[in-house]
Amino acid sequence: MKRKLIAGNWKMNGGLVQNQALVQAVREGLPAQSCGVAMCVPAPYLAQLAELVRASGIDLGSQDVSAHEQGAYTGEVSAGMLRDFGVRYAIVGHSERRQYHGESDATVALKAQRALAVGIAPIVCVGETLAQREAGQTEEVVKRQLAAVIHQNGHCISEIAIAYEPVWAIGTGKTASPEQAQAVHALLRTQLRAATPHPERVHILYGGSMNAANAAALLAMPDIDGGLIGGAALKAADFLFIIQAGSVPA
Ligand code: PEP
Repeated sequence: MKRKLIAGNWKMNGGLVQNQALVQAVREGLPAQSCGVAMCVPAPYLAQLAELVRASGIDLGSQDVSAHEQGAYTGEVSAGMLRDFGVRYAIVGHSERRQYHGESDATVALKAQRALAVGIAPIVCVGETLAQREAGQTEEVVKRQLAAVIHQNGHCISEIAIAYEPVWAIGTGKTASPEQAQAVHALLRTQLRAATPHPERVHILYGGSMNAANAAALLAMPDIDGGLIGGAALKAADFLFIIQAGSVPA
């Protein structure tokens, strides 16, 4: 059975002093047989985090990657630059980037391709808005978002991770029930089956107000392979509680 993966998405939070305290507390509290753990941090802190997580078993992640390889793209950070800092995961297509930065399915697919080309695993975010759920469009939306990434990256699709993040559950305190999340994860797994002989190898994470109180029930579902954690990743005790829920008991 593959290890679960718990990835923190710090979003635009952090500071040199807070980062040190947070990483140190998480390092010290990791269970003996921990699940996979990653911290996806703002780009300016990657160098600091690379030092802080050294030899800890915690992997480094970014929150985005440029769709371009290099050149005149002011403000962009390329996959090659991320790799220089030991980045293992790059979140792509987070709903905040789709919503506030106009990222299309095609752009997200290209970003995933840039990451894969340098050996970084993209964590591809998919998820429906509340209006789309209420209109019965959840399946259509998440399948369309994943199909774009499969179309662009079919040959190495088993190297990606997926995060199912219902937009209505992100930062709202509303969580998908374990059954609601499992239903979407199962259909994403089925969609992967057409693209790879080993769909079970792909981590499908749940994200959306996962916290210390609901993590165990969500992570117990058969197709939920971990979590992408926003707010609760900024508090060491809460993040560690979720890591514990995803880890093999010692
Ligand atoms: C996220 O932004 O990826 C996320 C899941 O946020 P939160 O856990 O705060 O809902």
